[in-house]
Amino acid sequence: PGKLYLVPTPIGNLEDMTFRAVRILKEADLILAEDTRTSAPMLKHFGVTARVFAHHQHNEHQSSNEIIRFLNEGKQIALISDAGTPAISDPGFYLVREALKHDIAVECLPGPTAFVPALVNSGFPTDKFCFEGFLPLKKGRQTRYKQLAEEDRTIILYESPHRLLKTLEEMATYFGADRLISVSRELTKMFEETVRGTVAEVKTHFETHPVKGEFVICVMGNTSPKSSPKERTSKYRDDED
Ligand code: SAM
Repeated sequence: PGKLYLVPTPIGNLEDMTFRAVRILKEADLILAEDTRTSAPMLKHFGVTARVFAHHQHNEHQSSNEIIRFLNEGKQIALISDAGTPAISDPGFYLVREALKHDIAVECLPGPTAFVPALVNSGFPTDKFCFEGFLPLKKGRQTRYKQLAEEDRTIILYESPHRLLKTLEEMATYFGADRLISVSRELTKMFEETVRGTVAEVKTHFETHPVKGEFVICVMGNTSPKSSPKERTSKYRDDED
């Protein structure tokens, strides 16, 4: 029977590729890549010679029908993205859902992804966290900030370098300039660094240092909810705490 594999690939350091990822890619009848040109050097590096087709945001829906047909014919298909784990702020979710609808086996291999090392590096609680990926660019951005301001779990966000300073400024507005954050940059790469401090401190750092590379922002959860203890007691009087 056919099977859909989601295969994580390095987010910078090629040594993070797993042995199983290489084997699955080598054995696949067909590899689906977000960008075939981006993945070509990586696949070559690991001696993977399987056929590679494009499966990206813009053709995800159309190409899914054809992929389901191949899977129904018994093909082993591996989906990769430009970096990290497919379906994590990358295409994949739609195809997984379609495959499951058609009773096709799906297996995601464990492997590189940017948010896990960023969360652990932050030093913020890791027992409960919420992954927000990229915030909406315009519509809904403010609403999301307002909701996240009350979130008590550690929040993880992906951000592009050209929007980082603007985002830090918005965080000062919505979360407060003294909220603790941790910004990890260039994870697994030569210039990897994690800058920790208040929103104000981290903002000052990036105003005086080049904002280059890829960024993950972790935000300490809100430890002092908006409503006063008294209000909470009446509002949540049936709750255990
Ligand atoms: N699928 C990927 C994953 O599993 O993490 C995420 C893909 S998303 C399109 C790209 C974003 O991931 C970047 O804008 C950045 O926020 C984050 N990212 C990817 N690689 C990174 C790295 N080496 N260091 C820091 N952040 C990274």
